[in-house]
Amino acid sequence: MIPILNLKPQYLEIQQEVEAAVLEVLNSTRYILGPNVRAFEQEFADYHEQPYAIGVGSGTDALHIAVRALDIGPGDEVIVPSFTFGATAGAVKLAGATPVFCDIDPVDFNMGVSQIEQAITPQTKAIIVVHIFGHPAPIEAIVELAKKHNLKVIEDTAQACGAKVGGRLVGTFGDVACYSFFPTKNLGCAGDGGALLCSDEQVFNNLTMIKNHGSPSRYTYDRTGTNSRLDEVQAAILRIKLRHLDRWNADRRKVAQFYDENLPQLGIVTPKVRPGCEHIYHQYTIRVAHRNAIQEHLNNQGVGTIVYYPKGLHKQKAFCPPQPLELPQTDLATQEVLSLPVFGELTEDELQTIIKALTSATKEYAQL
Ligand SMILES: *Cc1c(COP(=O)(O)O)cnc(C)c1O
Repeated sequence: MIPILNLKPQYLEIQQEVEAAVLEVLNSTRYILGPNVRAFEQEFADYHEQPYAIGVGSGTDALHIAVRALDIGPGDEVIVPSFTFGATAGAVKLAGATPVFCDIDPVDFNMGVSQIEQAITPQTKAIIVVHIFGHPAPIEAIVELAKKHNLKVIEDTAQACGAKVGGRLVGTFGDVACYSFFPTKNLGCAGDGGALLCSDEQVFNNLTMIKNHGSPSRYTYDRTGTNSRLDEVQAAILRIKLRHLDRWNADRRKVAQFYDENLPQLGIVTPKVRPGCEHIYHQYTIRVAHRNAIQEHLNNQGVGTIVYYPKGLHKQKAFCPPQPLELPQTDLATQEVLSLPVFGELTEDELQTIIKALTSATKEYAQL
C-alpha cells in the first residue's frame, strides 16, 4: 500500500540528530519553557521575519487563544470557511463568538474575497483565513477588505508553513497567524504542538497572557486564561526540522509537478496555483466525478487517498447555523475532492503505480 503520507524516510534522514537532541532534553530535566522553546520561538520568528513567535500546545489552542486575544467573544461574529478542519470554527465557538461560514472559490478551495464581503454584518469582528492545502488564500485582498471594514485578520496557517504570496511568507499578513505542528503537517513534531506569530507588541502581550493562565506576572491573574505550551522535547525536534522545511516543501512541489504533467490527460482536474503564489502542497487535491468509486478502485490497487473534507462545517451538528445556509461551491467540493499521496520520498516506481491506478480508475468510470 502506498500511504498518503509516510513520515519514516524523513525521520531516518534526521534520526541521529533528533534522538541526540531529545536525549539532551531528557537529561537536562528542563521540560517546560526551557532553552529549546525560547530558541525555537526566536528561530521561527526569524524564519518569518516577524518580531514575535509563541509556542503553544496545538494549532487548535493557537486559534482559540488568537480569537480571545483580539477581544472577540459573545455577540461577535467571525467569518470562516466551511471547507476546512473543524478547529477553525471550533476556536470561534470556544471563545463564545459565532462562526459565520463563507463559500470558497472553486479554483483553489480558498475562501473568496467577494464571498467574504457578502458575509460581513455589523457584528463581524474578524476573518479567519485558512490557507487550505498549503495554497495561499488571496490574503492581500482579504487584508485590504478587512481594513475597509475595520476587521481583524487571523491566518490559520496550520497547512501552509512556508507557502508564499509575492515572495512573502503567509502568516505575516494578518494580525495573528496560527500554526499546528501536528505530525502530518509540513512542519510537524512528534506529538502535539503549535505556534502563534504576530508583529504587534500589544497583541503579543495579550496572546502571552492568555496562554499563561491570564497571568501577567506570577500569581497575578488579570483575565481568564489557559495553559498551553509547546514543550522542550517538541521544540528541540522542531528546531532541527525547521532547517529542512524549505527543501522538503520543494521536494513535495516536484511530486506535484509530476502529477500536474500526468493527470490532466486522464480528465482529472488538478490543483491550480495562482500567479505569484508558492504552493507547499500540504495536500495534492484533485477533483473527479464518481469520487467514492474512484477512491475505492485506487484503494484496491494499493494507493492510499483521503477525502479532505467530506462535509462542510455549515452542515455539521456542532456548527450548523439556525437558518440553512447555501454554500454550493463548498458542497460541490466535498463531493469531488480526493487527496493523493504527496511527500518528497515517493519513488519513481510508486508514482508510476499511482498513475497506472488512476488511469484504470478514470477509464472504468468515464462512461458512467
Ligand atoms: C491541523 C489543523 C488545525 C488544528 O491543529 P492541531 O494542532 O491538530 O490542533 C487547525 N486548522 C487547520 C486548517 C488544520 O489543518
